[in-house]
Amino acid sequence: MSERAAQEFFKDAKKKAGTLKPATFHTLRHSFATHLLEDGVDMRYIQDLRLATFRPPKQPLEGATIRRLVYDGQIIMANPIQTILATQALVILDGALATELERRGGDLNDPLWSAKILLEQPEIIQQVHLDYFRAGADCATTASYQATFEGFMQRGLSHAQARALIQKSVQLALRARDEFWSEPANRIGRARPFIAASVGPYGAFLHDGSEYRGDYALSENELMEFHRGRMAALIDAGADMLACETIPTLVEARALVRLLDEFPNITAWFSFTARDGEHISHGERFADCIAEVAPHPQIAAIGVNCSSPRFISPLIQTVRRVTDKPIVVYPNSGETFDATTNSWQGTIACADFGSQTRAWYELGARVIGGCCRTTPEHIHEIALWARATAI
Ligand SMILES: [Zn+2]
Repeated sequence: MSERAAQEFFKDAKKKAGTLKPATFHTLRHSFATHLLEDGVDMRYIQDLRLATFRPPKQPLEGATIRRLVYDGQIIMANPIQTILATQALVILDGALATELERRGGDLNDPLWSAKILLEQPEIIQQVHLDYFRAGADCATTASYQATFEGFMQRGLSHAQARALIQKSVQLALRARDEFWSEPANRIGRARPFIAASVGPYGAFLHDGSEYRGDYALSENELMEFHRGRMAALIDAGADMLACETIPTLVEARALVRLLDEFPNITAWFSFTARDGEHISHGERFADCIAEVAPHPQIAAIGVNCSSPRFISPLIQTVRRVTDKPIVVYPNSGETFDATTNSWQGTIACADFGSQTRAWYELGARVIGGCCRTTPEHIHEIALWARATAI
C-alpha cells in the first residue's frame, strides 16, 4: 500500500470514529490486516499501532510484536485467525506433535512427554513444524503442551531454566516459520503462517490421563496460579496467539478466561475435549461451556480437540447454535490413550480425513487440523480441498 493509499484508508476509518459498532471493528480489522499483508508488511514489526496516525513504517522495528491495534483510544487486538479468514476459506492447523516426534524416533517415555524433546532433541521439533507448514498448515502449535514450571523444576531445573525451555518451544516454531516463509515458492497462494502457543491443561502435567477426565480437585484460583507464569512466558517469547487446548472441565476454562484479562494484548482459541457428542470430558454440557466462555472478546475461535472424529459433527452443530465465533476442530485419530499402559487403544476413525474435514467445514468449522496420532499426510489431505475452496 502506498503512503497515499494508507492515508486515504485511515481518513475513511477516522470518519467512522465514534459510530463504530463491534461488527464495524471486525471489518476494519480485516481490511487493515489485508492491506498490510498485501503490502508484504511483516505484522510482527509494528507495535501498538495507532490507526488514525498510521504511516507505513520506513524501517522495521526490530523484535517488536504486534498484538494490539489502537483505534481512537479503543484497542483492537491482532487476531491471526480473522486475518487469515479474510483471505482464505479455512485456517488449516497442524497435526500431532508428540506422536509425530515419537514416530521419528523421539523417546517420549517420560512424565514430561513431548517437553522432554525440548530438552534433548529440539531440532526434531523444528523439523516437525516445518513439515506441517510444507503439508499446508497455516499455524504451528508449540511444543509447550506439557512444558510447565512445575514439571521442569521437579526434574531439577531452576525457575530460569524452566522459563527458557518453555520459551524455546515458541522460538523453535518461529524459526521453522521463518525458514519456511523465506522461500518465495512457499508463499504462493497462501497466508503467512502464525504461531499458537499451546497451553495444555493442568492434567497434562500430572501425566496420569487426568487431562481426559478433568477430575483434579483444584479451585479456579489454584488453576489460575498454575497457568499464569507459563502463559506470561509464552506471550513474552513472541507467540502470535494462545491455544488453550484439551480443556476437560469448565472450572479450568473459567480460570483460563480470567487469566486472559491479565494479558489483554493477546487472543486465544479455546478448545475442549469431549466424551461424546454432547458433553466435555468432565461431564458438563458442551453447549453450556461454549455459551459461558465464547463471549470473551479475546477468544478468537472456540471448539473441540483431541476427541474422536466420530463426535465432531454434533459438536460443531452445538457451537453453531450458541456463538458466531469461528469454530475450531482438531480431533485425534479416534483411538484413546490408556495411561496405565502408556499406549493408544481402539480403532482409527481418521481415514479419509480429507472428506471428513470438508464435511465439518460445510457444517461451519473454519479452523481445522488434527490432534494426537494425526500426521502431516492428514494435514495435506485438508489442504488439498481447502486451498481450492473460494471464500
Ligand atoms: Zn491430542
